Amino acid sequence: MSLALWDGAGKLGVVDIEWDCIVVGGGAAGLSAALVLGRARRRTLVVDEGKQSNLAAHGIGGLLGHDGRPPAQLYEAGRAELAAYPSVLVRRGEVTSGHADGDCFVIESSDGSRERTRRVLLATGMEYRPPEIPGLDALWGRSAFHCPFCHGWEVRDQPLAVLADGERAMHMALMLRGWTEDVVVLTNGPAGLDAVQRGQLAAAGVAVEERPVAEFISHAGELDAVAFADGAQLARRGVLVATTMHQRSDLAAQLSVAAAPPGPLAADAITIDPFHRTSVPGVFAAGDLSVQMPQVAAAIAAGSLAAAAVVQSLLADDVGLPVPPWPTQKEDIHAHA
Ligand SMILES: Cc1cc2nc3c(=O)[nH]c(=O)nc-3n(C[C@H](O)[C@H](O)[C@H](O)COP(=O)(O)OP(=O)(O)OC[C@H]3O[C@@H](n4cnc5c(N)ncnc54)[C@H](O)[C@@H]3O)c2cc1C
Repeated sequence: MSLALWDGAGKLGVVDIEWDCIVVGGGAAGLSAALVLGRARRRTLVVDEGKQSNLAAHGIGGLLGHDGRPPAQLYEAGRAELAAYPSVLVRRGEVTSGHADGDCFVIESSDGSRERTRRVLLATGMEYRPPEIPGLDALWGRSAFHCPFCHGWEVRDQPLAVLADGERAMHMALMLRGWTEDVVVLTNGPAGLDAVQRGQLAAAGVAVEERPVAEFISHAGELDAVAFADGAQLARRGVLVATTMHQRSDLAAQLSVAAAPPGPLAADAITIDPFHRTSVPGVFAAGDLSVQMPQVAAAIAAGSLAAAAVVQSLLADDVGLPVPPWPTQKEDIHAHA
């Protein structure tokens, strides 16, 4: 890429840049990675569409130092910190394609830009897919949530529901009992629960409701009641929703990065080793796209670790820093649980 450099007073010149690392995605993982890369003086481009998955949430639950902080504020603060590092550029945009080209990668964005980079760090997050039921969308990230650790505190001791069936219903309902004594499982149709499971739920004081759910009714922006197809209503103040996570695009597939078999939450998490290296040499991954347990704190940690690994792999090329060989065998890498 050609980059015009300015010093605030005037144009200094145009230089051809080959980035050390392009970070795709500027959420918790990508911004955290860029901070470490910037402090390591690496020429780093962050391309971010700005659609972090938790933007709908009232606040980030469980992030030390930022507990309850609105997510957009955290990302704004992260971008502001990056401004102190001259080798880091954060650009709003969508990466549409990527491929290997010799020792480098070519990354293309929707604005037509085409850049070369020595390393790629995928931090694109995941698309969370809750079931499509009227009213649920409007409550998403507040009284309809996918994770009790994120939002259970806000609805503690309230009458709650779990929208799930089978094994997931068991896990989620019994887990939610840690936050309230009043839990009803909504299986949204005939339950896939056997007698043993039903007995276990009953023993924990969890009721099972099999009527199809027609709508989630809200009041002042929060859940008020669950309406069933037969017209009956059940008062509830929160619903824990079985949600699956999916890659947001085929970018990882374009780069030939291997995905793990479907897990309980993530349908197609990217496999990585403990250094956040994917199956493709030069391509790293961090954050939701490579885990089964999504969390802001974990994404920040993953971005930080991945960036440190990127820096070391660059120094291995540049000055022979010893690093473990890139994993080539499938058994060397795994989707982080
Ligand atoms: C509604 C909701 C509430 C949540 N609440 C909490 C909570 O309270 N506490 C908690 O710990 N966790 C919470 N989580 C989970 C947490 O948000 C995620 O684990 C975390 O944000 C993952 O960070 P990430 O950087 O991997 O992905 P994201 O934050 O999703 O960031 C990925 C970024 O990459 C961008 N991107 C994607 N593809 C491209 C592309 N091709 N080109 C350019 N940019 C791209 C996206 O637009 C986005 O900006 C919540 C999740 C949801 C859905």
